[in-house]
Amino acid sequence: MSSARKKVIISACILGEYCRYDGKTKEISAVAKAFDGYEIIPFCPEAPLFGTPRERIDVVEIDGENHILTHEGKKDVTALLREEIEAFCLANPHADAIVLKAKSPSCGYKTTPVLDTEGRELKKGNGIAADIFLQRYSEVPIKNENDYL
Ligand code: SF4
Repeated sequence: MSSARKKVIISACILGEYCRYDGKTKEISAVAKAFDGYEIIPFCPEAPLFGTPRERIDVVEIDGENHILTHEGKKDVTALLREEIEAFCLANPHADAIVLKAKSPSCGYKTTPVLDTEGRELKKGNGIAADIFLQRYSEVPIKNENDYL
């Protein structure tokens, strides 16, 4: 019988880390409280890659596929983010729960604006991390912070 604690992956900005693009946090203390007794695994793919603060990024649909582009420079950072997120999944192969920041181009789940190449919103969709997590942690439902407010 294993005595290992259950594990929850939580977007780091929800946990109070100052890792948002604007250098701020979005702490929602109710989320960490809801997982009292769990091992909390903070997750933020953008800060280690691009620093904080940093240029905003967007999800942009190009030829039917979502890409992640920097907001001003339109640099495609999809591959960089994918590599960072896949490395996180390899390092953390097991999770019992996942809570991601809504509306984020990385973390958002069903809440992130997906833009066309002119910057108009086409629909709400997933950030790149949510898409990858759906595959890598296919048994684990993804929640966002609003589920704990
Ligand atoms: S939403 Fe995700 S990528 Fe953005 S700051 Fe929070 S943890 Fe980092």
